[in-house]
Amino acid sequence: MSKSLSAPLAPGSIIGILGGGQLGRMAASAAAELGYHCHIYCPEADSPASEVSKYSTTAAYDDEKALAAFAEHVDVVTYEFENVPAKTAAFLIDRIPVNPGPKVLHICQNRLREKDFCNSINVPTTRYMEVTNPESLDRVVRDMGRPCILKTTEMGYDGKGQTFISADTDLADAWNAVAPNMDQAELVVEALVDFRMEISVIVARSIQGDCQAYIPVENRHKNHILDQTIVPARISQKISDRAEALARHMAEEMELIGMMAVEMFVTTDDEILINEMAPRPHNSGHWSMDACVTSQFEQFMRSIAGLNLGSVFRHSDAVMTNLLGDDVEKWEEILSDPASKLHLYGKDKAKPGRKMGHYTRIIPRN
Ligand code: AMP
Repeated sequence: MSKSLSAPLAPGSIIGILGGGQLGRMAASAAAELGYHCHIYCPEADSPASEVSKYSTTAAYDDEKALAAFAEHVDVVTYEFENVPAKTAAFLIDRIPVNPGPKVLHICQNRLREKDFCNSINVPTTRYMEVTNPESLDRVVRDMGRPCILKTTEMGYDGKGQTFISADTDLADAWNAVAPNMDQAELVVEALVDFRMEISVIVARSIQGDCQAYIPVENRHKNHILDQTIVPARISQKISDRAEALARHMAEEMELIGMMAVEMFVTTDDEILINEMAPRPHNSGHWSMDACVTSQFEQFMRSIAGLNLGSVFRHSDAVMTNLLGDDVEKWEEILSDPASKLHLYGKDKAKPGRKMGHYTRIIPRN
């Protein structure tokens, strides 16, 4: 049985966050501004999030003793990544309010469930088919047509766990690229979307049922990793309104308490297709820290703590750029630009592709 908060959390309350990455770090900083304390639970010592939080536990996600002590100590639990092991989530849900709750987590942990959910509420996705063994991949790809994309249903991110199937791709190679040494796996084949833009909408929904969405933004990727977010997305008012309406509809139908990012494709025919969702703040919402009255991280904390949502009023347009790997060496140059705001995540090893920080260039609106 899941538990819910009986009243908004007062300042001084303790928010438990599963995961210790940069999203947890920025959420914990926003929580501190609201007078809350954070308790970070993650397996890594010295995580970016624990560095800025009052409490932290370094333990495995299946360590029931550590989880029980964590549940005992905090007033609510949330997470900064959706791949929380199902057993960990169930253990906590029995003991303490967890926002977003089990229904949202269950849907958002798995690409097939996400797409099935969207289609069940008339929200369009690209065509997709499940495939569970290498023998049936041939038939599914014939039905779908090439080119298409083969993806794992769980744990994929930043282009990991997926492979492109072109006219001459050997299907055994494709299978092995995403499910090496496995003769059974839950995979999905997706039709290739002819998109002209990738956009996202970040939406929060409060315990009271109020829903607030940030303006749709345009996302540009390099090597499958988000490179830049342009705010607002360069789309018509009609497409922007439709994108926002879809995200709100999804949040309501999921009975979301918390925050969710919805990634979408705008096709060359101006249709919107949902790609995936993440029930937490998102890289494509970092701009809101410097361009909105309420940042996505404050909104996240407000929504999971039972507070009213804040204003998503956007006082500036913005371009957010990620600092991956050695890009972080540009920190001094960024600091000398008066229109830019730098955010570093406190990670010491700048491995290629690792998200080390970001900066946002602000373009004030008249
Ligand atoms: P994902 O992990 O599903 O977000 O995919 C990573 C990136 O691959 C997306 O941001 C797109 O640029 C591209 N991509 C994923 N699925 C498709 C698709 N069905 N059609 C075209 N491009 C895709």
